[in-house]
Amino acid sequence: MTIALEVNGLKKAYGDKTALDNVTFRVRKGVCFGLLGPNGAGKSTTMKILSGVLDADEGDVFVFGLDIRRSVKQVREQIGYVPQSIALFEKLSAYENLLFFGNMYGVRGAVLRRRIGEALERVGLADRARDAVATYSGGMKRRVNIAAALLHEPKLLIFDEPTVGIDTQSRTHIFEMLRILKNEGVTIVYSTHYMEEVEALCEDLAIIDRGKVIAAGELEQVLDQHGTS
Ligand code: ADP
Repeated sequence: MTIALEVNGLKKAYGDKTALDNVTFRVRKGVCFGLLGPNGAGKSTTMKILSGVLDADEGDVFVFGLDIRRSVKQVREQIGYVPQSIALFEKLSAYENLLFFGNMYGVRGAVLRRRIGEALERVGLADRARDAVATYSGGMKRRVNIAAALLHEPKLLIFDEPTVGIDTQSRTHIFEMLRILKNEGVTIVYSTHYMEEVEALCEDLAIIDRGKVIAAGELEQVLDQHGTS
């Protein structure tokens, strides 16, 4: 069994408020791993630490065996992080926004143009690619965020509650895309507060509550042990 992501003993406090208390889990390569928990459980904090946008107070994270603090650049190349929202240029089209984000990731020229086309297909926005983002629904904007994270072809994708507050059509496109990415061997970490999303998408999961992992493992085992249904 190859491990794509190893998270050991993460601790994080905001002032005197403990957000993560010894969070530990492992993600197998090529699976979708669900991080399930209610609001305020510590999901976003965990995802930000995994993506390198926030430092943990204690603990280690290894991505494909690389320590995220020692091998920052190599790890960044392997990870695509989809935060709950990124600022898009509303007056520009999805295509133009993606040119900007692709350049930020160091992808350029014909390669970037091809990948933008592929990413827009994947998220189901190819037919709206030239329209200004201002005319998009919230779900469509979220899909542009996702497309931006795909441009450098990461092997590990981190999604922070991607379906919160979006329309069903966007949700369907996101689920379809996740299944295709997984079939291509991409490892996915997916946070949500919906058990049914984990059941539909994920092989493994960790349940997090008040900053602690209260169960982790294969979906069926965890469901048997915790009788959440
Ligand atoms: P989730 O994503 O599961 O909703 P978060 O990781 O956003 O949880 O939050 C975990 C805890 O940390 C919550 O109690 C939240 O209020 C607190 N928290 C998150 N971000 C901050 C911040 N920037 N400053 C202070 N407290 C924060």
